[in-house]
Amino acid sequence: MSENAFLTVTDLRAGYGGARVLHGVSLTVGQGEICAILGPNGAGKTTLLRALSGMVRVRGDVRLDGADLAGRSPDTLARQGVAHVPEGRGTFMPLTVEENLRLGAFVRRGRGAVNDDLERVYTYFPVLKTRLTQVAGSLSGGEQQMLAIGRALMLRPRLLLLDEPSLGLAPMVTQELFRIVRAVNEEERTTVVVVEQNAHLALSVAQQAHVLESGRIVLSGSAEQIRADEQVAQSYLGYR
Ligand code: ATP
Repeated sequence: MSENAFLTVTDLRAGYGGARVLHGVSLTVGQGEICAILGPNGAGKTTLLRALSGMVRVRGDVRLDGADLAGRSPDTLARQGVAHVPEGRGTFMPLTVEENLRLGAFVRRGRGAVNDDLERVYTYFPVLKTRLTQVAGSLSGGEQQMLAIGRALMLRPRLLLLDEPSLGLAPMVTQELFRIVRAVNEEERTTVVVVEQNAHLALSVAQQAHVLESGRIVLSGSAEQIRADEQVAQSYLGYR
């Protein structure tokens, strides 16, 4: 339990049609923290992020800085500063890099501010500035993931949800991505929830972590505590 809880999730239940996937998830994330969600395939990690960004129906309580967000639409949640970078990135392949980034600011007004934010995104991802007129589909996997995160940053998120950012990327690219996520978190005080199969990497940037199994949180703690757990070490870190 974080002392300065920014995101508070209580007894969250969600699923698809009649199939329940999350069976009462409770967790808190402090303001400006990075929280990692670990767990086996099919545990419900993606569903948890979808529940937090309004993409699946939920029961239970979700609060961001005290505001009740449970059951709100993705659009409303985006306006509240919840940005979701889905697994597979969700970039618009036929659109250019700049068009994708500008779409990220769809809920915001004010051209000047949007232009300032584009510059801000380029400071984190300089490569995007060199690719502005290219269509997203022509980018490498790593660049597409950078574009997806850059697009999310255009929302000026208070809560950034990242689903498997390392998927399909080379280790060097993944490390660079996580370095940038850490920089964004530190410089903008953006709270981050990251679902990541690379538990080593996730625990190296996160302050706290939760292990989700079969739609329930079975272990929570600081990144150090989770790393030191025998079961986690065996199942997710590949040693002991
Ligand atoms: P993975 O690491 O494999 O992505 P995950 O922990 O993210 O796993 P989810 O993708 O949330 O798990 O899936 C949890 C369960 O929900 C699985 O049994 C999956 O088959 C089911 N599920 C996921 N998406 C849908 C959907 N759109 N419709 C119906 N069932 C779904």
